[in-house]
Amino acid sequence: MTRADRVARAFVRYRSARRWGSAERIQRYQRRALRRQLAFLRGHSPLLAERIAGTDLAALAALPVMDRASMMGDFDRLVTVPVTRDQALEFALGHEHSREFSGTLRGLSVGLSSGTSGHRGLFVVSPAERDAWVGAVLAMALPRGRALWGHRIALFLRADNSLYEAVDSRAIAFRFFDTFADLAPQVPDLAAYAPTILVGPPSVLREVARLASRAGVTVRPERVICAAEVLHDDDAAALREAFGVGVIHQLYQCTEGLLAHTCERGTLHLNEHMVLFEREDLGDGRFVPVITDLERRAQPIVRYRMGDVLVASAEPCACGSALTAIDRIEGRESDVLVGTRIGGGSTPVFADTVSRAMVLAEGFDDYTVTQRPDGSLDVALAQPAPGAADAVRRELRALFERLGCEAPEITFLDFNHDVTAKRRRVTRQGEQT
Ligand SMILES: [Zn+2]
Repeated sequence: MTRADRVARAFVRYRSARRWGSAERIQRYQRRALRRQLAFLRGHSPLLAERIAGTDLAALAALPVMDRASMMGDFDRLVTVPVTRDQALEFALGHEHSREFSGTLRGLSVGLSSGTSGHRGLFVVSPAERDAWVGAVLAMALPRGRALWGHRIALFLRADNSLYEAVDSRAIAFRFFDTFADLAPQVPDLAAYAPTILVGPPSVLREVARLASRAGVTVRPERVICAAEVLHDDDAAALREAFGVGVIHQLYQCTEGLLAHTCERGTLHLNEHMVLFEREDLGDGRFVPVITDLERRAQPIVRYRMGDVLVASAEPCACGSALTAIDRIEGRESDVLVGTRIGGGSTPVFADTVSRAMVLAEGFDDYTVTQRPDGSLDVALAQPAPGAADAVRRELRALFERLGCEAPEITFLDFNHDVTAKRRRVTRQGEQT
């Protein structure tokens, strides 16, 4: 099979909405795929050969949960390809420094992700997996109800350019823009390219919109897809306005997998046709996903605990897909602040509630809230209006008080604008896992 064949096959598999129209069908598919996957891993991963006792859901549930630290620690015995962690790390770091993201190590693509608490994630992907991934992304990204060809896709993502060679053609063209270089001179090129689909992190796309408006050029894609960062409501509103689209799509994708996508209705759906999700329940529909990738084999992802908090929708989506609908991604778990309860104990203060408090306070362009290990908050406001700091202090204190917590000490710092950094607006320091 050629690369293009593999991409096309994955595209067809994931494109059909009807195929994933009932929960029973999805579960049946998952059970079959899990059987195949566990049987393969038992035969090819030295670590999992010792651990996997069967190929059904019960056998899966008996396996220990992995996290980034244990994944890195067990890397050499976990993977099913002849690459060690040190070799892959050296290769990936070399590319990171040269900002040259193509090239393979013994035929494998190697990726590095910045950890949320200082831990790097390292991921290896085989050529077949890479092509299937591109097919899946296209199935989820290309608009329905129009011809599939003629798309020009502009990517403001750090990505492996060779990923898209298989499909780059007159039918679908890709163009990469460099988010590590000055964006201003690239914006006229973007306008001239006239992308039908614009992809990037929300913070970068907002900056692109600002620069386009300043340069007096217009960018009107058919679809805007956010990736690599949590999409906040205010970002979505700003991007809808700036690019003249009704819905901002998301691909919830990280080195651990392609975990969710937005349907035509604008709802985020879990990719349960690729990944099995177990839930660590936090109450009120919130959960931490523990994922098992049903397809990736070079580096198995088996009961891997993500650092994100997801919020399941109470209602199924009207689009007809039975893939679980998600209200929102609340970001990294380390972004959950801790409130000290009056009278003792502590309570989580979710990033989402902090964001809402900040929205209520007004009078600034952007912000970060960082909690120190002693519980105090450092707040940085971008271009604050007079009185903005007082409003923020008031709203944050009100939030903590509503939760029965002591009002935290708040210190205001200068806002440091860095669009290349993976932006986390609400963070907590001192968690070294
Ligand atoms: Zn939907």
